[in-house]
Amino acid sequence: MAELKVLSVFGTRPEAIKMAPLALELNRHPEIKSYVCVTAQHRELLDGVLQVFGIVPDYDLNIMAAGQSLSDVTIRVLRRLEQTLREVQPDLVLVHGDTTTSFAGALAAFYAGIPVGHVEAGLRSGDPRSPFPEEMNRRLTADLATFHFAPTAANRDNLRNEGVTENVFVTGNTVIDAMRYTVGDEHTDKEASGSGRRLIVLTCHRRENYGEPMENIFHAVRDIALRFDDVEFVYPVHPAPTVREAAGRILGNVPHVQLVEPLDAVEMHRLMARSYMVMTDSGGLQEEAPALGKPVLVLRRETERPEAIAAGTAKLAGVDREVITALASELLLDSAKYAQMANAVNPYGDGNACKRIADAILYGFSRRETPPEEFRP
Ligand code: UDP
Repeated sequence: MAELKVLSVFGTRPEAIKMAPLALELNRHPEIKSYVCVTAQHRELLDGVLQVFGIVPDYDLNIMAAGQSLSDVTIRVLRRLEQTLREVQPDLVLVHGDTTTSFAGALAAFYAGIPVGHVEAGLRSGDPRSPFPEEMNRRLTADLATFHFAPTAANRDNLRNEGVTENVFVTGNTVIDAMRYTVGDEHTDKEASGSGRRLIVLTCHRRENYGEPMENIFHAVRDIALRFDDVEFVYPVHPAPTVREAAGRILGNVPHVQLVEPLDAVEMHRLMARSYMVMTDSGGLQEEAPALGKPVLVLRRETERPEAIAAGTAKLAGVDREVITALASELLLDSAKYAQMANAVNPYGDGNACKRIADAILYGFSRRETPPEEFRP
């Protein structure tokens, strides 16, 4: 039988971190010929991840342009991917999650009559407009996809509720697989920052938080840093100009708040492993921190990742200055409350998601008789 040609398409940092271990896994299967196509929706942040995992893309659409709009990204992915699909003629196109690359990549494959596999399928906030445009991207991608790799049972149920019941596999999230490459037990050290202070890892960059919510978050961070002398924040600041401007203005000269350049995935995961806790609006960090036993304050109004909240390791802190300050202070002052949240749990995966996805692909294309066993936390 001929090899199955599988083309993975991704373009941003979080997609790359979560697709890299899958690309490496697909390479281990002799029945599969794996190709990687990057759109480079984010150029620098993407390249850093590719380097960490030793992945050299077969195709680089290099679409990033200064001041690009969502329509620009969509149009360029559609146009340039059409060409690549014609050349490779894959049996399956894999896209990930909720970016504009994912949606446009799935649409390009659909136009070319090629089945789509959606990795990290089924996350839902419940509001089609928020997070914008991610929630709509993942809904539309679900409609375009033939195979749905849902990280958790709750994600599968979201798909079921929308009538998507065929070819849905509960696999765990590949981010936990990625952490097998980047961080080990030897990197965990709660004493943290090197200065003896308790380290809080902060990230904040989401479009939905631009403006007042982001300002509130930064003011809360400032309040906490000024109140607690034994705390140090490390904030790898996203390159988006809006984020840089607000972070520099509000946090630029605050003692014990380090604004640093984005870290590579290894540095980032090891930093979190050494931290006392994590404050973030990122999706990926909400999944990674629980696996490391770090409490998470989620700096958003809603989350499509309720599992860690149900497991007790994350709290939805919202975007109100006083509420964020109060919740962080509680975790810094109340060791019993802290201990309750600092449990290492893995509601999102067990490190075998990529293997399950590869097996599900082989099953879907009748190269294997049984589907993979579902991920259960
Ligand atoms: N990350 C990183 N370096 C940084 C900040 C984040 O490697 O300086 C990683 C983080 O560990 C996670 C991913 O990037 O795996 C999250 O990406 P991002 O916050 O951009 O997007 P989201 O997860 O919200 O989609």
